[in-house]
Amino acid sequence: MEERTEISTLGEFGLIDHLTKNNETKNASTILGVGDDGAVIDHFGKQTVISTDMLVEGIHFDLMYTPLKHLGYKSVVVNISDIYAMNATPTHITMSIAFSNRFSLEALDEFYEGIYAACDKYGVDLIGGDTTSSQKGFIISVTAIGEVPPDKYVTRSTAKVGDLVCVSGDLGGAFLGLTLLEREKKVYLETKGVQPDLENQDYIIGRILKPEARKDIIEFFAANDIIPTSMIDVSDGLSSELLHICKQSALGCVLYEEKIPVNDLARQFAYKLEIDPTACALSGGEDYELVFTIPQSEYDKLVLNEQISVVGYMTEAIEGSHIITKGGSRHPLTAQGWNAFN
Ligand code: ADP
Ligand code: MG
Repeated sequence: MEERTEISTLGEFGLIDHLTKNNETKNASTILGVGDDGAVIDHFGKQTVISTDMLVEGIHFDLMYTPLKHLGYKSVVVNISDIYAMNATPTHITMSIAFSNRFSLEALDEFYEGIYAACDKYGVDLIGGDTTSSQKGFIISVTAIGEVPPDKYVTRSTAKVGDLVCVSGDLGGAFLGLTLLEREKKVYLETKGVQPDLENQDYIIGRILKPEARKDIIEFFAANDIIPTSMIDVSDGLSSELLHICKQSALGCVLYEEKIPVNDLARQFAYKLEIDPTACALSGGEDYELVFTIPQSEYDKLVLNEQISVVGYMTEAIEGSHIITKGGSRHPLTAQGWNAFN
């Protein structure tokens, strides 16, 4: 039988010690980490970017098909993705958790394995958090802190008319992965004992269970002296994100369907399910890619990076926000992004 250690055998402080005993800091800016009333960070003349996000069981994740290690990893990634979306480098996170006695020490160890794996990969220090109980359901709240050279941060509100709209990586895969996992969960619940058939769809399942943040894109900007005029990460889908940039920059946009990057395996799977791959990219979300705008004069620098696609351009607000389909027709862009309150 699998080992199960009740959390009550350790107590809150014993648990925190256990979860953080091998925690080592990597950044010189981490003056004081876990163990006191607060952490201390040195700014070294940089500006600090802070972002926080909460993940709630049953709303943002389903433990039936989400391994805890992946969940730990993803909790960190989705938070530092917001820091990259500000053109900043993440340096620190705090991790606050609430769980019921359904959770064993072994389960929390698995969750923290994922957290530490992400911290190592992205060079981030875990410097604190909070630990408490919940009656039901697992709740995760992460705060990410990052640094940026003075005034090099990028907001959603400063895109300019004529700027190119660009996207990193590919879109829609995470939604398709989620659709597949949800389908197999339903089959499993309706026909007990049937093994899930994930159809070897490793790519899309990886996109939903183990997303990555686009550290490489921020590094590419720095190496090539590119500062986007605006930027946002894709948590809710391309439409919704682009409309945020339009609204906050008081502009409109034109998006070309044929330019939207969709992975081939994802596209084939969408066709198999008779779902429109473009709809997955526009409204799916959770891809954690970056959407950004740059002046047309910077186009030559972008071509160096195969991970970046130009998908459209910014217009005056009065022209509205549109998508031009592959067939050449023009439709208003609508935000059907995933809504936590649906
Ligand atoms: P306080 O009562 O002053 O808030 P706590 O007893 O909650 O302090 O936490 C003690 C130390 O452990 C603090 O440095 C806190 O940031 C850290 N900590 C608490 N829970 C976690 C957790 N789940 N993961 C990482 N660090 C944690
Ligand atoms: Mg506390």
